[in-house]
Amino acid sequence: MPIRVAIIGSGPAGFYTASALLKDCPNCEIDIIERLPTPYGLIRGGVAPDHQTTKKVANKYEQTALMERVRFYGNIEVGRDVSLAEVRGLYDAVVLAIGARSDRKFTIPGADKPGVYGSAAFVGWYNGHPDFQNLDPHLDTSGVAVVGNGNVAIDCARVLMRSPYGRARTDLPTQVIEAIDRSPIHEVHVLGRRGPADAAFTNVELRELGVLTEAEPRVRAEQLPSDVDAALAGYEKRERRVRQRNLNTLAEYAERAPSEKPKSLHLEFFASPVEIIGDGRVEAIRCERTQVIDGRAEGTGSFFEIPCGLVIAAIGYRAEPLDGAPFDEARGIIPNTSGRIEAGLYAVGWIKRGPVGVISTNRPDGQQAASHIQDDIPPEGDPSKTGHQGLEALLHERARRWVCFDEWKRIDEMERIAGGDDAPRRKFVSVDEMLNALDNDHPEAADD
Ligand code: NAP
Repeated sequence: MPIRVAIIGSGPAGFYTASALLKDCPNCEIDIIERLPTPYGLIRGGVAPDHQTTKKVANKYEQTALMERVRFYGNIEVGRDVSLAEVRGLYDAVVLAIGARSDRKFTIPGADKPGVYGSAAFVGWYNGHPDFQNLDPHLDTSGVAVVGNGNVAIDCARVLMRSPYGRARTDLPTQVIEAIDRSPIHEVHVLGRRGPADAAFTNVELRELGVLTEAEPRVRAEQLPSDVDAALAGYEKRERRVRQRNLNTLAEYAERAPSEKPKSLHLEFFASPVEIIGDGRVEAIRCERTQVIDGRAEGTGSFFEIPCGLVIAAIGYRAEPLDGAPFDEARGIIPNTSGRIEAGLYAVGWIKRGPVGVISTNRPDGQQAASHIQDDIPPEGDPSKTGHQGLEALLHERARRWVCFDEWKRIDEMERIAGGDDAPRRKFVSVDEMLNALDNDHPEAADD
């Protein structure tokens, strides 16, 4: 008997686990269960639409998905269509690769006003994620505040500030392109509660802001550290080098001569939001000026306001608990020891270690889970585990429509064709649209 493994979630962490299992565990059969009809998690729904090169890593995941020992069950949500307990009953090992799909709570007074969005929602909206297509963000404003100094904050700012020509060449959904093109936004303020030396964004992303054709990055020279060594003292050597590069780029921005570009992207540091102001909707964000003491932002008692009609809180993501698995509310992860939750149940990616790190950070998680599975599960597997046969029987019984990998490939092809000559693709943005397109493409599938 094979060892039957279910991987729940088809983002990078899920695919690196599948690929490690294929390599190291010749007796494994792997079923990837994904709640959307589309695979690849944050590669599709998180990575910025103008970072198509980054998205090419999905070609590698596709090679994994096409291996004979791998199956894909899209449009099946564990916790809705099947329970985790049921999946565990069918498989020798279950790997949770469910990520962190919600927003960390932004709790300042006024943060519940219309016009304030978390970045998971805003990025989901512009990336065509079906969960966020009704967001309808308030783009009828000239000013935007993006709270946070991570790469997601930079992505949001850049997508809003790109030229219509640049946006049209991304895979942003048509209605998103139209909405942003129509918008009068011309000032975006990215707010860091600490200083420029403490920003979490990386240098490649920061430098992209310097080559936007319609927007100029603006940095105030007086916010840059006069004593760089002191500002970087709390960081280890490698980190220091990375941050030094950011400081150099920011210094270059600060020195730029006034430009003719019609839009401005302000990088404002030492600015901790304390209140969203507005009657019925957002009119301004009130911030306290901070100073950084021992690496922490401390308020100075001095306040200022930035007029804006849209606030995006890009302050990090938050995982959601899954019925049948433990959850550490404070850390927002499933408690685990190096990826092992208990024998037979494993965690990889952001649900294992929190919402930080780039795509490749997930690779060792997959290798670790694969190695635990080989240590914990007898090589002959448990004959009572029926794997995909049991899963399909259960789904048939419940009349659940799953999307297999071949069907995803058809969705993929239709989206690429819809992109025409200029754009990489135009995405389907609702599950119904995807299923209808599949069923109309091959009418016999409707009778499945
Ligand atoms: P992040 O890197 O953790 O950044 C979160 C930012 O929010 C930090 O600047 C943090 O400031 C700030 N913040 C947190 N709570 C706040 C509050 N209450 N008020 C004001 N500011 C607050 O998170 P992320 O940007 O969501 O990115 C998640 C991960 O994905 C990161 O590892 C990122 O590098 C990665 N990513 C990479 C790329 C890329 O490679 N192009 C693109 C997108 C995302 P403090 O530092 O002061 O806490």
